[in-house]
Amino acid sequence: MIIEKIEIYRLAIPFHANRDICTSNLSAQEIYNAANPELKKMESLLVKLTTNNGLIGWGESFGHAINPVTFNALETIVGRFFLGKKVPEDITQIRDLIHQAKYAFHPFGSGGPVMFALSGVDIALWDLVGKLHHKPLYQLLGGKRTEFDVYASLVSYGNKIDEHVLRAYHEGFKAIKLHEIDVKDTQKARSVLPEDFPLMVDVNCPWSEQEAIKQAYLLQSANLTWLEEPIFPPNDVLKLANLRKIGIPIAAGENVDGVQGFEQHFINHAIDIAQPSVAKVGGITAMLDVIDLAKMYSIKVSPHCFYYGAGLLATAHILSLLDDNIKLEAPYIQWNDLLYPQMEFKPKLTLADTSGLGFEPNKEVFERYIIQYKKIEYNH
Ligand SMILES: [Mg+2]
Repeated sequence: MIIEKIEIYRLAIPFHANRDICTSNLSAQEIYNAANPELKKMESLLVKLTTNNGLIGWGESFGHAINPVTFNALETIVGRFFLGKKVPEDITQIRDLIHQAKYAFHPFGSGGPVMFALSGVDIALWDLVGKLHHKPLYQLLGGKRTEFDVYASLVSYGNKIDEHVLRAYHEGFKAIKLHEIDVKDTQKARSVLPEDFPLMVDVNCPWSEQEAIKQAYLLQSANLTWLEEPIFPPNDVLKLANLRKIGIPIAAGENVDGVQGFEQHFINHAIDIAQPSVAKVGGITAMLDVIDLAKMYSIKVSPHCFYYGAGLLATAHILSLLDDNIKLEAPYIQWNDLLYPQMEFKPKLTLADTSGLGFEPNKEVFERYIIQYKKIEYNH
């Protein structure tokens, strides 16, 4: 059985997040971030592999504003590498094939659009192997759970944060993450929540080391479960390690380049919580490697997931391998339409008992929101 056809889709589904329309001057950092307060649609870059006997595997690649570039990487380099390749039949064969691809692409960097593209293909290969064995992916991985607490990952609001936090709290979410830089917003959110309610804040790398230390002292009273990506550049492991000494748990990982990047973070004691992102780090294969490595260094893993396509389900399957108290991240927004039932934002997500990822998009919804499409086929 070989990979006969690869289809690449960019979808953009409208959403709302109960925020006031914001026309303020956005910083460059905000414009390119998925939590951008002016966004009204969210994109998903999906990869569909079809074998010569009609089996289908779905994957998702990162993402958001870089999608046109990742799309191009899939169409021109990464997708073509896999066309005509024998479909892996087990985990070892997936590892071998992904290793070959990584070796082939190594001059193009260990992160960025080429790695994002490869992540999408990797997820699709795991979906195919699950289907070949008629097993849901979590079973193939040796995971046990199928039901997960979801944590509400709020978009950036910049005002009325107390109202938005309380909305999520009253809807039954068991943990909330903010995307606010101003310490006052975090303190305000904490003031309306029970003292021990898990609250995280993701600031998306705004501070120098000195500024981060100052802000971390101010945040001490907020009893944070973690402070995410406080320092720029995000992978400055020595600065992160220094900041950790203040005592607030530090989380990072969505911008770490590959498994070796995580190893550098672990060796240097840079983080308390590792946040690999399935559609960026190298797919499910790389996620498994990061989880194994984190175990060796006794670091907690809490995957990054700002996805709603195959990447969300892939992350849920991976969570089945982690402790019960690790929650699934999902963007706290309301969709105009649902691609599949689990996409609806609720405090719990339950995986279906179907083979592979279980990603079966509603055809009509899917077709309505395609903004870019390409098919590449194997020439015999
Ligand atoms: Mg983040």
